[in-house]
Amino acid sequence: MAETPEIIPLSTDNISDFHMHCDYSIDATGTIEEYCQAALKRRLAEICFTSHFDANPRCDGEANFVRVNGKNLPTTVENVAPYVEHVLKAAEEFYPYGLSVKLGLEVGWYAGCEEQVVKLKESYPFDYLLVGIHELNDECFCARSTYEKCFSKFSREQAVENYVQQVIAAAHTGLFDTVAHLDYIKKYGQKFYGEGVNDDFRRLAPTIFAGLKSSGTSMEVNTAARRLGFSSYYPAIDIINMARRAGVAVQFLGSDAHRPEHVGYEFEEVIPLVPDAVTHCED
Ligand SMILES: [Zn+2]
Ligand SMILES: [Zn+2]
Repeated sequence: MAETPEIIPLSTDNISDFHMHCDYSIDATGTIEEYCQAALKRRLAEICFTSHFDANPRCDGEANFVRVNGKNLPTTVENVAPYVEHVLKAAEEFYPYGLSVKLGLEVGWYAGCEEQVVKLKESYPFDYLLVGIHELNDECFCARSTYEKCFSKFSREQAVENYVQQVIAAAHTGLFDTVAHLDYIKKYGQKFYGEGVNDDFRRLAPTIFAGLKSSGTSMEVNTAARRLGFSSYYPAIDIINMARRAGVAVQFLGSDAHRPEHVGYEFEEVIPLVPDAVTHCED
């Protein structure tokens, strides 16, 4: 049996992790309770579950499921109900232990998703909505099995531009609190196109910042890049600084955990980058 990696407690109090997937996401393992236990071990004060909501009808649909009781159900507003109930139950259960549990979702962006997102917000008491750009022309660029097929249809410049335009379009809807993993195109883009992908992104970053600022959409610092061997985060530290200088709210720290032991992953080093990573969403 594989050993569970040790969870080292943070030395700073009142830190929150606002990006994690539990087993309601088809690419994640661990129950909501297991994530809460891990958060307590990490000494986090607050966590927000942000299960995937991928529903683009134009993509191949492989991601378009939510897992409920071990079964993959199509991603619909209705099928999210058990997840919502479960998170709300955990919030009650873990409150006495000093852990605040928030309800969120990571919506996979596609043009035309707005109506469904409005319906989600009307149907459930979400504290927080992330939007993640995971596709170029309705094809996933961030999975190991699909990125080559996706990127082979674009020049480097086209890929980055397409990605950036989607980030701006998502922000402009004003429906989301935060854009997830801002320079996510580098995840496999750097491998496929080379380092130039990051230069292209930096060149276009000011247009993203303008879009985030005018729509009041904030930006997270996501440590998952560290698990893939990047020396920095999503986005890279210099981009975080550029964003802050441009007046973008750099507000949330997220591990993008897909296993309980990822909760609060490498937060120790990143806390100073997000001075208000301490608990949000409090009344
Ligand atoms: Zn994502
Ligand atoms: Zn995520």
